[in-house]
Amino acid sequence: MDTTHLSDPLDPLRKEIDEADRQLIQILARRFHAVKQVGALKQAEANHPVLDTERERRVQATWVQDAEALGLSAPFARRVLKEILNHSRRLQEALIENHQGPGRRIHCGYQGLAGSYSSMAASHLMAHRGAAESGFKGYGTFQEVGKALLHGEIDYGLLPVENSIGGSIADVNRLICDHALHIVDEEVWQVEHVLAVPPGVELSVLRVIRSHPAALTQCETFLSSMDEVRREPWSDTAAAAASLQEGAARERGDTGAICSEEAAALYGLDVIARSLADRECNETRFLLLAREPELPDHRLHCKTSMLFRVNHHEGALVRALNVFAEAGVNLTRIESRPQPDMPWEYLFFVDVEGHMEAPALAGALLNLRSCCSHLRMLGCYPSRTRKQDGHLDQAPMAAAAPPQEEPVCIRELPAATAPAPRPDRSRSAVRIGPVILGEGHFVLISGPCAVESLDQIVDAARMVRASGATMLRGGAFKPRTSPHDFQGLGLEGLRYLREAGRQFELPTVTEVLTIEDIPDVLAHADVLQVGARNMHNFALLKELGKVDKPVILKRGLSATIKELLSAADYLLNGGNLRVILCERGIRTFETSTRATLDVSAVPVLKRLTHLPVIVDPSHAAGDRELVIPLALAAAAAGADGLIVEAHPRPEEALCDKAQALNPDDVVRMTAALRPIVAAQGRIW
Ligand code: PEP
Ligand code: MN
Repeated sequence: MDTTHLSDPLDPLRKEIDEADRQLIQILARRFHAVKQVGALKQAEANHPVLDTERERRVQATWVQDAEALGLSAPFARRVLKEILNHSRRLQEALIENHQGPGRRIHCGYQGLAGSYSSMAASHLMAHRGAAESGFKGYGTFQEVGKALLHGEIDYGLLPVENSIGGSIADVNRLICDHALHIVDEEVWQVEHVLAVPPGVELSVLRVIRSHPAALTQCETFLSSMDEVRREPWSDTAAAAASLQEGAARERGDTGAICSEEAAALYGLDVIARSLADRECNETRFLLLAREPELPDHRLHCKTSMLFRVNHHEGALVRALNVFAEAGVNLTRIESRPQPDMPWEYLFFVDVEGHMEAPALAGALLNLRSCCSHLRMLGCYPSRTRKQDGHLDQAPMAAAAPPQEEPVCIRELPAATAPAPRPDRSRSAVRIGPVILGEGHFVLISGPCAVESLDQIVDAARMVRASGATMLRGGAFKPRTSPHDFQGLGLEGLRYLREAGRQFELPTVTEVLTIEDIPDVLAHADVLQVGARNMHNFALLKELGKVDKPVILKRGLSATIKELLSAADYLLNGGNLRVILCERGIRTFETSTRATLDVSAVPVLKRLTHLPVIVDPSHAAGDRELVIPLALAAAAAGADGLIVEAHPRPEEALCDKAQALNPDDVVRMTAALRPIVAAQGRIW
């Protein structure tokens, strides 16, 4: 029978659906057009925040009410609106944030093959960031993405950091922890797993299902309903799909892959089951990493991420977190990471809501530094997360307010020039074991210029301990003006210094001359000294910014106080907050002393910085006779401590013989210092 003249009864209904779809698209386009116009007006107004929580709340209430009146379910209406509002907000953000200058092709790396969730999140995010011209590249591992980024092969790397079902992704956190990478954006991706098979293969014949282990775990209920199916872990979901295009699995016709709908289409597979995950909500949060920080516009709803280590005291973490509570700053994530070299000590990853330059958060960050031994800002970036039930996060108004004070630059947090965050000076103290530098204490560091032998340094330690010194100094690597002079015992000297410190329970201070020596010095000494000649060695300072030991930074021979503070910023910005400044005399026209001790540097530095300040009278004087009066002057000027050269037998000294105090001098000096220190109410 000829059936061509008979119409399908579904046809008119399908037509109606098609027409409704057409109208939906047109209505959405109309909405987004209006949204962009609002965005343009907001852009013109410097202080207008993009996120208007109150307005979004009202829109949502009306939307859900209208939907319910028409018989649609409220959760469904909220879900659809959530997508629409997200898209609207990002359209406006893209207008305000102009990430790429025109014509510049941006390269973004991710882990996995094309069609992986990472690749989709990457193209979505880059398009939203206005990078029409983007190149994408998939890498085998997270580490390879990190390496490509550090080597300049790509401009950005997008890596998953946590999943709403599986939790945090340790390898990515480790990568961020171990390298100087910055978080510049985030993306939240709705993961929707499907079961893909080569065309013609049916569910009943499947014996193997391969996918990324996390995806297999997320589809537990579905997989356990398939008795005879073996689970095969694969490097990523898209690679699992791609592997079915050819080879043995294809020939056997018994293997499927759990992947995205897009991956299935890309690798020519049929989708035979959808919505496989145990939970409907399965979202992955990705971080966009870059080599340099980017600071978003103040009008955007932002997050700020940081990494810190707290001092080893009871309540230290609570105090650190309280800083945010007191400032009304909302914490969105906290996670700890073990440190392989320091068992049972942890670094904390913390994300908070707000722009890091907004007054509330900037103030909190300044206070935070006093609770931490290490603080590294990881980045400030537009926030893309919303609570799952469709309700909006409350955006603190402070986050959207423009900065009222001098902004604290992302690269300069916490700057050496920041004033002490609280009036009591305790906030800037540096602790070295039992010794406290700052906080009203007075610290005497003493010992020879150079470690010359085990006997010499042990004798020196005995001498300085008896006189009341609280730390032992001794150079193992010596920066000598002439290459013909004694250069120090190197590693052997470090071992002797450590041994002497151990015998007399004195924490040790020694100079580190080069980046290569850092690991050895770290392993042997308690405090690392950067000498006057190295104050401008920014590569060395950058590396020392990453270490977990205090650093004494000596003022350069011809450095201004401002230059000394900028050098300190290199250490602080690297994350090392335990910085001690040292005035040691500067070059002037005066030749009767080795250098001219700038006593005024002490009160000037106290006014400008929260960091502890000590004085080295020995290298300023260059002459034993002058060391004691200069030491007394420095203490009277308010120094937090002194570093003084002393030798058990100065006549035998291999280095800086003329300025080394002998045992009697040391006793005389400490006797003269005590009343001055006591008069200031300092603890020694
Ligand atoms: C030292 O302390 O031994 C030293 C070399 O000091 P400076 O770097 O201040 O000259
Ligand atoms: Mn010296």
